[in-house]
Amino acid sequence: LAAQSHVNHQTIVKISETVAFGGKELVIIGGPCTVESLEQMQIVAQKLATASVHGLRGGVYKPRTSPYAFQGMGVEGLEILARVRSHYNLPVVTEVMSISQIEVVAAHADMLQVGSRNMQNFDLLKALGQAGKPILLKRGLAATIEEFVMAAEYILSHGNPDVVLCERGIRSFDDYTRNVLDLGAVAALKQITHLPVIVDPSHAVGKRELVAPVARAAIACGADGLIIECHPEPEKSVSDARQALSLEDMVHLVNSLKPVATAV
Ligand code: PEP
Ligand code: MN
Repeated sequence: LAAQSHVNHQTIVKISETVAFGGKELVIIGGPCTVESLEQMQIVAQKLATASVHGLRGGVYKPRTSPYAFQGMGVEGLEILARVRSHYNLPVVTEVMSISQIEVVAAHADMLQVGSRNMQNFDLLKALGQAGKPILLKRGLAATIEEFVMAAEYILSHGNPDVVLCERGIRSFDDYTRNVLDLGAVAALKQITHLPVIVDPSHAVGKRELVAPVARAAIACGADGLIIECHPEPEKSVSDARQALSLEDMVHLVNSLKPVATAV
Protein backbone atom coordinates (compact mmCIF):
# COMPACT_ATOMS: atom_id res chain seq x y z
CA LEU A 1 0.00 0.00 0.00
CA ALA A 2 2.92 2.34 0.65
CA ALA A 3 4.55 1.66 -2.70
CA GLN A 4 4.51 4.28 -5.41
CA SER A 5 3.71 1.56 -7.91
CA HIS A 6 0.51 0.75 -6.01
CA VAL A 7 -1.11 4.10 -6.77
CA ASN A 8 0.03 6.67 -9.20
CA HIS A 9 -0.18 9.79 -7.15
CA GLN A 10 1.39 11.75 -4.34
CA THR A 11 -0.63 11.31 -1.18
CA ILE A 12 -1.72 14.51 0.54
CA VAL A 13 -2.05 14.27 4.32
CA LYS A 14 -4.26 17.00 5.71
CA ILE A 15 -3.93 17.86 9.40
CA SER A 16 -6.19 20.94 9.52
CA GLU A 17 -8.39 23.00 7.24
CA THR A 18 -5.34 24.76 5.81
CA VAL A 19 -2.32 22.55 6.50
CA ALA A 20 -1.52 19.54 4.31
CA PHE A 21 1.68 17.55 3.78
CA GLY A 22 2.63 16.49 0.27
CA GLY A 23 1.14 19.42 -1.60
CA LYS A 24 2.93 22.32 -3.25
CA GLU A 25 3.62 24.16 -0.03
CA LEU A 26 6.27 23.06 2.44
CA VAL A 27 4.92 22.28 5.90
CA ILE A 28 7.04 23.55 8.78
CA ILE A 29 6.37 22.33 12.31
CA GLY A 30 8.15 23.97 15.22
CA GLY A 31 8.19 23.85 18.98
CA PRO A 32 10.03 22.52 21.98
CA CYS A 33 11.12 18.95 22.55
CA THR A 34 8.93 18.85 25.65
CA VAL A 35 5.88 20.82 26.74
CA GLU A 36 6.98 22.50 29.97
CA SER A 37 4.23 25.03 30.78
CA LEU A 38 1.32 26.95 29.27
CA GLU A 39 3.40 30.14 29.25
CA GLN A 40 6.19 28.42 27.33
CA MET A 41 3.81 27.13 24.64
CA GLN A 42 2.06 30.50 24.37
CA ILE A 43 5.35 32.29 23.75
CA VAL A 44 6.34 29.72 21.13
CA ALA A 45 2.95 29.79 19.39
CA GLN A 46 2.74 33.58 19.35
CA LYS A 47 6.14 33.88 17.70
CA LEU A 48 5.71 31.04 15.23
CA ALA A 49 2.19 32.06 14.21
CA THR A 50 3.63 35.29 12.81
CA ALA A 51 6.27 33.39 10.79
CA SER A 52 5.56 30.88 8.05
CA VAL A 53 5.24 28.02 10.52
CA HIS A 54 2.23 25.78 10.01
CA GLY A 55 2.05 23.71 13.15
CA LEU A 56 3.28 23.17 16.68
CA ARG A 57 5.16 20.27 18.22
CA GLY A 58 5.78 19.44 21.86
CA GLY A 59 6.11 16.13 23.67
CA VAL A 60 4.00 15.27 26.70
CA TYR A 61 4.86 11.56 26.79
CA LYS A 62 8.62 11.51 26.42
CA PRO A 63 10.78 8.50 25.52
CA ARG A 64 13.70 9.41 27.79
CA THR A 65 16.87 7.34 27.89
CA SER A 66 16.99 7.54 31.69
CA PRO A 67 13.97 6.56 33.79
CA TYR A 68 15.02 9.33 36.19
CA ALA A 69 14.74 12.05 33.53
CA PHE A 70 11.50 14.08 33.23
CA GLN A 71 8.94 11.85 31.55
CA GLY A 72 6.59 14.57 30.30
CA MET A 73 3.47 16.39 31.55
CA GLY A 74 1.00 13.81 30.29
CA VAL A 75 -2.65 14.85 30.11
CA GLU A 76 -1.91 18.28 31.61
CA GLY A 77 0.47 18.85 28.71
CA LEU A 78 -2.17 17.73 26.22
CA GLU A 79 -4.57 20.30 27.65
CA ILE A 80 -1.93 22.99 27.16
CA LEU A 81 -1.43 21.91 23.55
CA ALA A 82 -5.17 21.94 22.88
CA ARG A 83 -5.56 25.44 24.33
CA VAL A 84 -2.70 26.89 22.35
CA ARG A 85 -3.86 25.10 19.22
CA SER A 86 -7.29 26.69 19.25
CA HIS A 87 -6.11 30.13 20.38
CA TYR A 88 -3.50 30.43 17.61
CA ASN A 89 -5.23 28.22 15.06
CA LEU A 90 -2.12 26.05 14.72
CA PRO A 91 -2.45 22.27 14.37
CA VAL A 92 -0.52 20.25 16.93
CA VAL A 93 1.61 17.11 16.68
CA THR A 94 2.68 15.13 19.73
CA GLU A 95 4.06 11.68 20.45
CA VAL A 96 2.07 8.66 21.51
CA MET A 97 4.17 5.92 23.13
CA SER A 98 1.59 3.27 23.90
CA ILE A 99 -1.79 1.98 22.80
CA SER A 100 -3.35 3.20 26.04
CA GLN A 101 -2.41 6.81 25.21
CA ILE A 102 -3.95 6.87 21.72
CA GLU A 103 -7.47 7.89 22.68
CA VAL A 104 -6.53 10.84 24.86
CA VAL A 105 -3.82 12.07 22.50
CA ALA A 106 -6.18 11.84 19.52
CA ALA A 107 -8.71 13.91 21.44
CA HIS A 108 -6.23 16.78 21.87
CA ALA A 109 -3.87 16.70 18.88
CA ASP A 110 -4.17 16.92 15.09
CA MET A 111 -1.40 14.45 14.32
CA LEU A 112 0.05 11.58 16.36
CA GLN A 113 3.81 11.04 16.31
CA VAL A 114 5.39 7.61 16.51
CA GLY A 115 8.89 8.15 17.87
CA SER A 116 11.98 6.42 16.55
CA ARG A 117 12.09 4.05 19.48
CA ASN A 118 8.63 2.79 18.63
CA MET A 119 8.92 2.51 14.86
CA GLN A 120 8.72 -1.26 15.10
CA ASN A 121 6.24 -1.44 17.97
CA PHE A 122 3.92 -3.40 15.74
CA ASP A 123 0.99 -3.53 18.15
CA LEU A 124 1.11 0.25 18.47
CA LEU A 125 1.29 0.64 14.68
CA LYS A 126 -1.72 -1.64 14.21
CA ALA A 127 -3.71 0.28 16.79
CA LEU A 128 -2.82 3.57 15.07
CA GLY A 129 -4.50 2.20 11.98
CA GLN A 130 -7.74 2.89 13.84
CA ALA A 131 -6.74 6.15 15.52
CA GLY A 132 -8.71 8.36 13.17
CA LYS A 133 -5.87 10.91 13.04
CA PRO A 134 -2.89 11.39 10.72
CA ILE A 135 0.36 9.76 11.86
CA LEU A 136 3.88 11.16 11.79
CA LEU A 137 6.09 8.07 11.65
CA LYS A 138 9.73 8.67 12.55
CA ARG A 139 12.45 6.40 11.24
CA GLY A 140 13.90 3.99 13.79
CA LEU A 141 17.38 4.61 15.19
CA ALA A 142 18.84 1.86 13.05
CA ALA A 143 16.02 1.01 10.69
CA THR A 144 16.64 0.28 7.03
CA ILE A 145 14.54 2.09 4.44
CA GLU A 146 12.71 -1.18 3.80
CA GLU A 147 11.88 -1.58 7.51
CA PHE A 148 10.73 2.03 7.64
CA VAL A 149 8.36 1.58 4.71
CA MET A 150 7.05 -1.68 6.18
CA ALA A 151 6.31 0.11 9.46
CA ALA A 152 4.19 2.58 7.48
CA GLU A 153 2.59 -0.41 5.78
CA TYR A 154 1.37 -1.65 9.19
CA ILE A 155 -0.54 1.58 9.76
CA LEU A 156 -1.91 1.76 6.21
CA SER A 157 -2.98 -1.87 6.16
CA HIS A 158 -4.83 -1.43 9.43
CA GLY A 159 -7.04 1.29 8.01
CA ASN A 160 -5.25 4.63 8.27
CA PRO A 161 -4.15 6.12 4.91
CA ASP A 162 -2.73 9.30 6.45
CA VAL A 163 0.92 8.59 7.17
CA VAL A 164 3.80 11.05 6.86
CA LEU A 165 7.34 9.64 6.98
CA CYS A 166 10.04 11.49 8.93
CA GLU A 167 13.77 10.98 8.42
CA ARG A 168 15.51 12.01 11.65
CA GLY A 169 19.00 10.58 11.30
CA ILE A 170 20.31 7.10 11.95
CA ARG A 171 23.01 5.73 14.23
CA SER A 172 26.47 5.38 12.83
CA PHE A 173 30.05 5.08 14.11
CA ASP A 174 30.42 8.84 14.31
CA ASP A 175 28.52 10.61 17.06
CA TYR A 176 29.92 14.09 16.44
CA THR A 177 26.50 14.82 15.06
CA ARG A 178 23.97 13.07 17.28
CA ASN A 179 22.85 10.92 14.36
CA VAL A 180 23.68 10.84 10.68
CA LEU A 181 21.02 12.44 8.50
CA ASP A 182 20.25 10.14 5.60
CA LEU A 183 19.31 12.48 2.77
CA GLY A 184 19.66 9.63 0.33
CA ALA A 185 16.75 8.01 2.14
CA VAL A 186 14.65 11.15 1.60
CA ALA A 187 15.26 11.00 -2.14
CA ALA A 188 14.64 7.24 -2.20
CA LEU A 189 11.44 7.41 -0.13
CA LYS A 190 10.08 10.11 -2.42
CA GLN A 191 10.57 7.72 -5.33
CA ILE A 192 9.45 4.43 -3.85
CA THR A 193 6.43 5.62 -1.85
CA HIS A 194 3.57 8.04 -2.46
CA LEU A 195 3.60 9.22 1.16
CA PRO A 196 4.80 12.69 2.16
CA VAL A 197 8.35 12.72 3.55
CA ILE A 198 9.62 15.29 6.03
CA VAL A 199 12.91 15.75 7.84
CA ASP A 200 13.74 16.42 11.48
CA PRO A 201 17.13 18.15 11.32
CA SER A 202 17.19 18.74 15.09
CA HIS A 203 17.47 15.12 16.23
CA ALA A 204 19.65 14.37 13.21
CA VAL A 205 22.46 16.77 14.08
CA GLY A 206 21.89 17.37 17.80
CA LYS A 207 23.63 20.77 17.75
CA ARG A 208 21.72 24.00 17.14
CA GLU A 209 24.41 25.57 14.95
CA LEU A 210 24.09 22.70 12.45
CA VAL A 211 20.30 22.68 12.17
CA ALA A 212 19.80 25.43 9.56
CA PRO A 213 22.20 24.25 6.82
CA VAL A 214 20.93 20.69 7.12
CA ALA A 215 17.31 21.86 7.04
CA ARG A 216 17.97 23.70 3.78
CA ALA A 217 19.66 20.63 2.32
CA ALA A 218 16.59 18.55 3.20
CA ILE A 219 14.33 20.90 1.27
CA ALA A 220 16.74 20.92 -1.66
CA CYS A 221 16.57 17.12 -1.54
CA GLY A 222 12.81 17.12 -2.02
CA ALA A 223 11.45 16.89 1.52
CA ASP A 224 7.82 17.97 1.89
CA GLY A 225 8.46 19.72 5.18
CA LEU A 226 10.44 19.94 8.38
CA ILE A 227 9.91 19.43 12.09
CA ILE A 228 12.31 21.54 14.14
CA GLU A 229 12.88 22.00 17.87
CA CYS A 230 12.89 25.55 19.20
CA HIS A 231 12.42 27.10 22.63
CA PRO A 232 12.03 30.57 24.15
CA GLU A 233 15.17 29.92 26.25
CA PRO A 234 16.97 27.13 24.42
CA GLU A 235 19.64 26.43 27.07
CA LYS A 236 16.92 25.95 29.66
CA SER A 237 15.03 23.28 27.69
CA VAL A 238 14.27 20.33 29.97
CA SER A 239 15.25 17.96 27.14
CA ASP A 240 17.37 18.25 24.00
CA ALA A 241 18.62 21.70 25.02
CA ARG A 242 21.76 21.46 22.89
CA GLN A 243 19.78 21.23 19.65
CA ALA A 244 17.02 23.74 20.40
CA LEU A 245 16.94 26.89 18.27
CA SER A 246 15.95 30.24 19.73
CA LEU A 247 12.61 31.46 18.36
CA GLU A 248 14.45 34.22 16.48
CA ASP A 249 16.76 31.69 14.81
CA MET A 250 13.75 29.55 13.97
CA VAL A 251 12.10 32.45 12.16
CA HIS A 252 15.34 33.24 10.30
CA LEU A 253 15.66 29.64 9.24
CA VAL A 254 12.08 29.45 8.00
CA ASN A 255 12.56 32.62 5.95
CA SER A 256 15.75 31.22 4.40
CA LEU A 257 13.89 28.17 3.08
CA LYS A 258 11.72 29.99 0.58
CA PRO A 259 14.39 30.49 -2.14
CA VAL A 260 15.50 26.87 -1.73
CA ALA A 261 11.94 25.59 -2.08
CA THR A 262 11.37 27.74 -5.15
CA ALA A 263 14.53 26.41 -6.77
CA VAL A 264 13.60 22.72 -6.35
C1 PEP B 1 11.16 13.93 19.58
O1 PEP B 1 10.64 14.24 18.50
O2 PEP B 1 11.24 14.70 20.56
C2 PEP B 1 11.84 12.61 19.65
C3 PEP B 1 11.98 11.98 20.81
O3 PEP B 1 12.27 12.18 18.45
P1 PEP B 1 12.88 10.76 18.00
O4 PEP B 1 11.83 9.76 18.29
O5 PEP B 1 13.16 10.98 16.55
O6 PEP B 1 14.14 10.56 18.81
MN1 MN C 1 13.61 16.00 21.25
